[in-house]
Amino acid sequence: MSIFGKNYKNGKHKDGRISGILANYSNKTTNESESSKVYENIFTGYPNFNKWKHDFNLLCEQYPEHKCSLILFEFENFETIKRYTNYEIGNYTSKKLLSLIEQYFCTGNVYSVSQKKFLVMLQDVTLVEACRLANKFLYSTKKPIYIEEIPVAVVLKGGIDCLKLNDINKHNIYNNLEKALDQSQRFKRDITIFNQQIAEERQEYYNTIVSIYRALQNNSFYLVYQPKISLEEDKVQGVEALLRWNNNTYGNIPISQVIKIAEEVDFINYITKWVIQNAIKQLKAWQEQGKSISIAINISARDLNDYSLVKFVTDSILFYEINPSLLEFELTERSIIENEEKVFRILNEFKDLGIKVSLDDYGTGYNSLMYLVKSLFKFDYVKIDKIFIDEITNENTQILIRGIVNAAHGLGIRIIAEGVETEEQLNILKNMECDIIQGYYYSKPLQPEELETFIESRKVAV
Ligand code: C2E
Ligand code: CA
Ligand code: CA
Repeated sequence: MSIFGKNYKNGKHKDGRISGILANYSNKTTNESESSKVYENIFTGYPNFNKWKHDFNLLCEQYPEHKCSLILFEFENFETIKRYTNYEIGNYTSKKLLSLIEQYFCTGNVYSVSQKKFLVMLQDVTLVEACRLANKFLYSTKKPIYIEEIPVAVVLKGGIDCLKLNDINKHNIYNNLEKALDQSQRFKRDITIFNQQIAEERQEYYNTIVSIYRALQNNSFYLVYQPKISLEEDKVQGVEALLRWNNNTYGNIPISQVIKIAEEVDFINYITKWVIQNAIKQLKAWQEQGKSISIAINISARDLNDYSLVKFVTDSILFYEINPSLLEFELTERSIIENEEKVFRILNEFKDLGIKVSLDDYGTGYNSLMYLVKSLFKFDYVKIDKIFIDEITNENTQILIRGIVNAAHGLGIRIIAEGVETEEQLNILKNMECDIIQGYYYSKPLQPEELETFIESRKVAV
């Protein structure tokens, strides 16, 4: 296990090499063993974050006119590797990566901020050169690393920044690196160079997250309901519940963006439960008025990782004493593909409760008819996405949609067309024997009272 032993001790590398700042540190310390503990990451044996701060300050004092590039790497799948192999392999992989970084960048100034975050300080190296090296290094990690003959596939991302050592904002450097790294993770790219725009975007993003949390606490979300018209009966078949946000600052952010952020920070489950509970309360209110209007609720991919959702839905149905066949859940193909078997198991539990399930945004994703024929689960509805409806006057699009409608009907699945805006689109869809229409042609999403008026105005007995 020699390669995994501490290769940094008391300011020196195991091979006796002392480079750059580390050399300074080793000369200056009086009580080496005590300081080395303070300055060493106990898991990897490499210099830690405190040591980096110390070295960085020293560098700024000694070479204020010089430039320095810094790279922060994150070993993204560290926890997963520990979970799927074992704790030791995870630790060894961290150390191995640190030693590879040292070799690649030919520097002793490599710091183990944690077991999964590594910092490289490159004195007098330009941003362009640092970037070139970082990209080359990241590319080299895209093949398994062998730990005691066990192949380990690592996922590494990076953030990079360069500054002059007398820059007045030099003490923000680590935060800048974190922001750039965050950007790499968010946009699934290897490395991001920090710039001020990133800082502003990240601040904005953070503020939005806080506001989303608050919105739920302060009840500033509300639901609107868009009617869906059954062509056969010429009446409102049901409505889709859509989330809205009463907020002066962030109210203009598209709700799809709010949902995306909530998914990214793993907050979506709370929002979905809020939506379910409030939609069920609305169902109850309509039920008490003698109106049986079904409500479709959007469920995100991440919601289906949360087993407690089934219990939550069951409890809510019982508590509010609503008819579960008036509830529908809408899911996109993306949510299913991530974990097909698990998703279908949960969906079957919902079906057993009497809830209907729709395949949403059909045509925007993998566009696979396979989901419709698979015996694992039978959808009640397929919602053809607006992108198809926008093109429906095109003959080829018509051939495609007609094919989907026929296939679905053959399987006993009903078709909903979304985003229908014109009479021409409506007539083509009628011709194809599409079952249900949703779109601005009939109505935008409405507040509950407006919806009641809409239904009355269509003289529909509900
Ligand atoms: P979606 O589920 O596909 O919902 C349909 C979207 O199309 C809604 O946008 C609706 O207002 C809009 N729409 C309906 N008819 C027309 C039309 O004729 N023309 C045009 N241009 N647009 C039409 P909205 O409300 O902005 O929602 C956008 C997306 O945000 C939804 O797409 C859904 O993915 C997500 N979303 C909204 N509410 C929720 C929610 O409560 N939970 C979850 N997980 N996602 C939600
Ligand atoms: Ca939907
Ligand atoms: Ca949709």
